[in-house]
Amino acid sequence: MFDLELTKSNDLVKHEALVGRLDKNHPKFPEVLGNLKKLSAGYRGEKTVDYFLKSLPPKRHHIFQGLRLPIGKNFFQIDSLMMSAKSGLLIESKNYAGTLLFEKNQLTRTLSGSTESDIFQNPLTQANNHKILLKYFFEKNKIPVIPIEHLVCVANTTSNIVISPGYIEADKRVTRAENVLQKIEENDKFYNKAVIDDKTIGKLCKLLKTQHTPLTNDILQKYGIHKSEITGVQCPRCFSIPMLYRGRYWDCLSCQMKARDPFIKAINEYFLLIKPTITNQELVEFLQLPSARAATYLLSLLNLPYTGTNKGRVYHQPPLFP
Ligand SMILES: [Zn+2]
Repeated sequence: MFDLELTKSNDLVKHEALVGRLDKNHPKFPEVLGNLKKLSAGYRGEKTVDYFLKSLPPKRHHIFQGLRLPIGKNFFQIDSLMMSAKSGLLIESKNYAGTLLFEKNQLTRTLSGSTESDIFQNPLTQANNHKILLKYFFEKNKIPVIPIEHLVCVANTTSNIVISPGYIEADKRVTRAENVLQKIEENDKFYNKAVIDDKTIGKLCKLLKTQHTPLTNDILQKYGIHKSEITGVQCPRCFSIPMLYRGRYWDCLSCQMKARDPFIKAINEYFLLIKPTITNQELVEFLQLPSARAATYLLSLLNLPYTGTNKGRVYHQPPLFP
């Protein structure tokens, strides 16, 4: 069963929203877009592995997708963790295209037709480090010792995996996504005796869920983009910004579309990219409204929770918005 389902990371959702709002000629646009592509590729890789994990017998493992745990002052994030009373299995997914040469100290990726290569950290080292950190985490939280294995799963079906001769660990632990079920079967066959009881596995799963801390970062600060550079309501048809407020509808000057509620998506993106609260004046600025009255009217349509009165009123992002 999935104790933690796969979702798009906060960072990916923020990058999607920011790329949608940022002017294509903004100096930071290529960097933001480049990082969005990396995050999207990573997520597609995780989805591929998730697809296979979803066909496992539901009661055999507790599965945590995108688990991010604290250790000391830092955090570490595991793409997929499978726990049972017999063992644990940690999976790092990679979605790199091209020829992937696995060597002890690095991963070299060469795209087809290219003479240049990119060097990455060996994902097996990364998986092994996460395994060690997970052991520390269990020790710290007084969970009894349980054997944990790790795998690197290459999700991109077009990539060509090359393992450096004699690198036995990679032969054993690097697999394609379509072979992941077989690897899990082998692991479950090898570790066939329960080492902790049901009560402890329950405690362990509860601990993992309560300690899971999704990354939240200030994306505008990260790229040095000011909030005034991403204002305006976006046209749902041609994506141009801003649409003009006409009272009962919004008008796109580029494609002439008229729409009633594209401001809802804009407010959602404000909460996502800027902060989880908004005042009347901030809404005027962000939606490029003609008056405070217009903002009051739009806010009245949304029934957002608020604190404070009159001019000091602050509206809050509801738990599930829009
Ligand atoms: Zn338009």
